Amino acid sequence: MKVGVLALQGDVSEHVDILRKVGVDCKIVKKREDLRELKGLIIPGGESTTLIKLMEKTGIYDEILSREDLGIFGTCAGAILLAKEILNYDQNSLGLMEIKVERNAYGRQRESFEAYIKIPKLNIEKFRGVFIRAPIIRDISDKVEVLAEYEGNPVLVQQDIYLASTFHPELTNDERIHRYFVEMLKEKL
Ligand code: GLN
Repeated sequence: MKVGVLALQGDVSEHVDILRKVGVDCKIVKKREDLRELKGLIIPGGESTTLIKLMEKTGIYDEILSREDLGIFGTCAGAILLAKEILNYDQNSLGLMEIKVERNAYGRQRESFEAYIKIPKLNIEKFRGVFIRAPIIRDISDKVEVLAEYEGNPVLVQQDIYLASTFHPELTNDERIHRYFVEMLKEKL
């Protein structure tokens, strides 16, 4: 099984390193053909406005939407792009998850911070959550499962073959969430 990392912009190499640690075959995705043989794709953190434009330009946007058998894990900007609605910016997204997000929602003073997160479903007591100009998930439908919360807001959510975190697990040495994503792909696809 191969998992791709979208490499148009953002923190790509960190995801590649952590997937290697999980022991899964990894592919750098720069054009739409790169998606063909993949079961899973990671959309990294970065700038969601830039990412969406490049995805549209390369045809990766259309290719993703034509595939019902491609699991996706979006971190931070990646989570924004998975959302059905971006509440405070007029901006396109993939709309694959029934979540509504507010971009850059923690405000200036807390643009970047770290907090320990508990993820009961994964039996994780403490996961170092690195938040960088992170969004807040303001609304979810009942199709969405909340795996972790911080200050009462969801920060790690799953809907079927899609997983989204508002923090950056790839910026820690902790591969447990990536391992969960890979297990999820094996189980569901
Ligand atoms: N602030 C960025 C955005 O709204 C996301 C930041 C990140 O991915 N670390 O696109």
